[in-house]
Amino acid sequence: MVEKRIDELIKKINIANYEYYTLDTPSITDQEYDDMMDELIKLETQNPNLVRNDSPTLRVGGQVVSSFKKVTHEVPMMSLGDVFNIDEIKDFDERVRKVVPKVSYVCELKIDGLSVSLKYEKGKLVRAATRGDGVVGEDITHNVRTIKNVPLSLPKDIDIEVRGEIYMPITSFNKLNEEREKNGENLFANPRNAAAGSVRQLDSKVAASRNLATFLYHLPNPEKYGINSQMEALEFMKSLGFTVNPNIKKIDDIAEIEDYITHYAEVRDNLEYDIDGIVIKVDNLSDQKRLGATAKVPRWAIAYKFPAKQVLTKLTNIEFCVGRTGKVTPRADLDPVRLAGSVVRSATLNNEDYIKSKDIRVGDTVSIRKAGDIIPEVVEVIKERRTGSEFPFEMIKDCPICGSELVRNENEAAYYCLNKNCDARKIEGLIHFVSRDAMFIEGFGDAIVEDFYNYGYLKRIPDFYYLKDKKQELQELEGFGKKSIDNLLNSIEKSKSNSLERLIFGLGIKHVGKKKASILAKYYETMDSLMSASFDDLRGITDIGDKIAKSIVDYFVDNKDLIEELKSIGLNMNYLGSTTNINDNFNGLHFVLTGTLESLTRNEAKKLIEDAGGDVTSSVSGNTAAVIVGASPGSKYDKAIKLGIPVWYEEEFMNKLGGM
Ligand code: NAD
Repeated sequence: MVEKRIDELIKKINIANYEYYTLDTPSITDQEYDDMMDELIKLETQNPNLVRNDSPTLRVGGQVVSSFKKVTHEVPMMSLGDVFNIDEIKDFDERVRKVVPKVSYVCELKIDGLSVSLKYEKGKLVRAATRGDGVVGEDITHNVRTIKNVPLSLPKDIDIEVRGEIYMPITSFNKLNEEREKNGENLFANPRNAAAGSVRQLDSKVAASRNLATFLYHLPNPEKYGINSQMEALEFMKSLGFTVNPNIKKIDDIAEIEDYITHYAEVRDNLEYDIDGIVIKVDNLSDQKRLGATAKVPRWAIAYKFPAKQVLTKLTNIEFCVGRTGKVTPRADLDPVRLAGSVVRSATLNNEDYIKSKDIRVGDTVSIRKAGDIIPEVVEVIKERRTGSEFPFEMIKDCPICGSELVRNENEAAYYCLNKNCDARKIEGLIHFVSRDAMFIEGFGDAIVEDFYNYGYLKRIPDFYYLKDKKQELQELEGFGKKSIDNLLNSIEKSKSNSLERLIFGLGIKHVGKKKASILAKYYETMDSLMSASFDDLRGITDIGDKIAKSIVDYFVDNKDLIEELKSIGLNMNYLGSTTNINDNFNGLHFVLTGTLESLTRNEAKKLIEDAGGDVTSSVSGNTAAVIVGASPGSKYDKAIKLGIPVWYEEEFMNKLGGM
């Protein structure tokens, strides 16, 4: 079984390597490739006896095509070990510190091109070679000579080899693809493939027309020149006339690495070249030597890869979830895939129209991304990967939980289960009541609410407050004990004194989200005055439209008794404005953060904005109230200027917060 999977992975990876390194036309995404490689490494680690000696985990990727002269590298050109999150960087740091307790790192951008070795004799460029399989590469001197920032002769008559990356600047790439489109030629998938395709041309005129460029970052024999560190090596290469990327930082501490990553993840789209991550290298060369290398990668460096923004995966099933308002939302089950820092197993499909407009079928390969960086959604179907065994989508007619007929309102894409006693609706309503933005009853995960519902302890909202009478029974439930039930009951009691807006939101009135609940609580101050507000009163409030006003009036007609019961239980029914941080500069408004703030982390700034009633979105649009700008801002700043959106620098931001 395992052996078969290993064989299968090796076969697929070998095909991908050939397409990527030799033909420069990959047919799978880097993420799919990295995932297969990850799986293979895991299987091989668990089953060392099954490691084949031709395994791609032991070899650096490329193969050498016959049309180019072969070049044997005196010092092998290695690849880099990949990591995908901060924890893995910490593991790397720990491994390094076992050998080198006091270590300094150099952080560099990981340029997304192809590596090249340049050899000079007596100061003259005599040979340029690709990495190939790490030991044997291809001679591409004729093409590299055409790259403008590769010096053909050096200021000193020295023999030297330097290594770095050949890349295609974004503007050259766009121009090239535009021309190819005009001529009806195949387009390059990305600047990396375009650069690799260009240096593998037999006719150097083609490479010359492609406007390639280089950044040099490695000196294979530093001791020959009295160099002791990576920083010195970079300076030395610069002094010889090579182009070294300017975004280099020497770092002693892992927290600074995190800041470096955050910063470049944000500004990468503004760079004139593609980067796919950052490289962290031990600075001191004798420390590097002590750490050594495996057959494929050095132990003194690691590549952190930026999370993919969009990945492909297989849609294995479509399920339907019933929410607290009865809305039925189709959800895609996916083959688990890593996306933007987490493993994604499902994605929203919104509604029937959305699925039909994209013709999403069970069995399809789909491209997914995180909408607003949080909720995974299906962007498109990769129709070329259809095999004919996919099932076209059919919307269900009945509620998957209670079986009642679903209804689609006019002008709405969603279907609803109208049965107020539908278990799914009730459970979702209870889960919503305890949630963080509502009554925030800590300790109640979705599963506990569902279990308590199924055991009969919770059917309606007031039941939360009667749980204390069942303390003994609850403590005896499997998985619970005195302490956890005590904690649970304490947080339930604590929730009684929440400010009114939490309760209004927690009740789950249709169309009344967190923001509207807060506006209502602030305006009416007590539950009684909100309950006695008429449709016209409610409509008079900014941001409360007809639909919301009607929904509120209808809710209180149906739920007077419930509110009275909650009152008698002792729930606070007043707005405690002074204890919340709602601030008119932020309340109900959308903000975008860009760049590095001096006094706050990104998360702290986000929390302050949210506490003040605003929210933080990832992209600038006409709805953005202001863009908050720190040092080295990204493209969001430019967009704000273009759209005329107010820009707040840190001081102004803090002043606005201060005016609470
Ligand atoms: P890599 O891209 O993971 O990292 C190593 C390379 O980074 C080095 O060889 C060097 O060329 C480059 N680099 C850029 N900036 C650098 C810097 N400042 N310092 C040091 N090195 C720097 O490894 P790789 O072996 O070149 O490529 C493997 C990756 O290629 C895979 O992880 C995958 O993402 C992709 N790939 C994709 C397919 C596909 O079919 N889609 C197939 C094969 C490989």
